[in-house]
Amino acid sequence: MVSVYYDKDIKLDILKGRKISIIGYGSQGHAHANNLRDSGMDVTVGIRRGGSWEKAEKAGFQVKTPAEAAKAADLVMMLLPDETMAGTYAQEVGPNLKKGAYLAFAHGFNIHFGQIVPGADANVFMAAPKGPGHLVRSEYEKGSGVPCLVAVHQDPAGDTKQVALAYAAGIGGGRAGILETTFREETETDLFGEQVVLCGGLTSLIQAGFETLTGAGYSPEMAYFECLHEVKLIVDLIYEGGISNMRYSISNTAQYGDLTRGPRIITDETKKQMRKILEEIQSGEFAREWLLECKVGKPMFTALTRRGEEHPVERVGKKLRAMMPWMKKKLVDRSKA
Ligand code: NDP
Ligand code: MG
Repeated sequence: MVSVYYDKDIKLDILKGRKISIIGYGSQGHAHANNLRDSGMDVTVGIRRGGSWEKAEKAGFQVKTPAEAAKAADLVMMLLPDETMAGTYAQEVGPNLKKGAYLAFAHGFNIHFGQIVPGADANVFMAAPKGPGHLVRSEYEKGSGVPCLVAVHQDPAGDTKQVALAYAAGIGGGRAGILETTFREETETDLFGEQVVLCGGLTSLIQAGFETLTGAGYSPEMAYFECLHEVKLIVDLIYEGGISNMRYSISNTAQYGDLTRGPRIITDETKKQMRKILEEIQSGEFAREWLLECKVGKPMFTALTRRGEEHPVERVGKKLRAMMPWMKKKLVDRSKA
């Protein structure tokens, strides 16, 4: 069993008086910076000029370049996109890190795959919320939190786990539960989850269902509701009480169709591919491929993203969502200012 920690198990004091620099002010960055400040911490934001600089300043933070922010900090949290982080670390953060500082990550990718190799005196930990940044912020504001993972990679100071727990509690994780893991386990399961189930699996399932219905002559509007819109309604039920909870709520006809047809969609062949994808993650093949793709300017990433945006399910969805006024309140704020 993994260890789970809550606010009552954690002393925030270990972070009080320490200067914390959050590098990046995107999805996770804005959430960590605001939550830690509201938890009474001393927070500076480190970011490149232009971009979200102004947004962080407007939120009342002291904003510096990543190099200046690292120089001033006892604890540096790296919240840049994983594929650009190693460059910023090598040029700006690493050379300016105080001796004996704490260096933190919200995902193990760069440490586990050896893209960032911190000095032996650095205390390296992970505090990874299991949810997107806007949720990390909105749950905290509601007095709640998003579950969080912590792991320690190196610990010359001897108290890195306590610092990691305090950090995770400072962003609200202690209200929901903080689970202890390792950089390897977090990195590999995170990549697997997003590739196979959450992002890759789900989007392909939605698109294939939509294509099948519209290909058979049904209207795109009906296909959108059945294959995309209602996903959330079903997932909410699963989230609340597991698959049984969802099956309790749906009609018997739906449940019979679920039980007998689902296994024809996810077959032994699908599971074989899942194992293959996991092997590509474990061997580092996926990481190599992705970093190479980034090095050459992301041609495949850009082309596939564009193709996805042009999919008919996106076009009809845009039209239908505009007709649903209750969807006006957005979870994601895409503005920079
Ligand atoms: P974002 O893409 O939202 O981060 C964007 C931030 O990084 C912005 O401040 C942006 O600045 C800056 N940035 C982007 N490119 C560069 C660059 N080339 N040089 C310098 N700064 C740059 O990242 P996330 O918040 O999604 O991810 C941060 C970390 O959190 C990652 O390790 C990720 O794996 C992890 N994580 C993310 C989750 C999520 O839901 N998003 C969930 C859990 C963990 P500008 O405004 O100037 O572009
Ligand atoms: Mg993930």
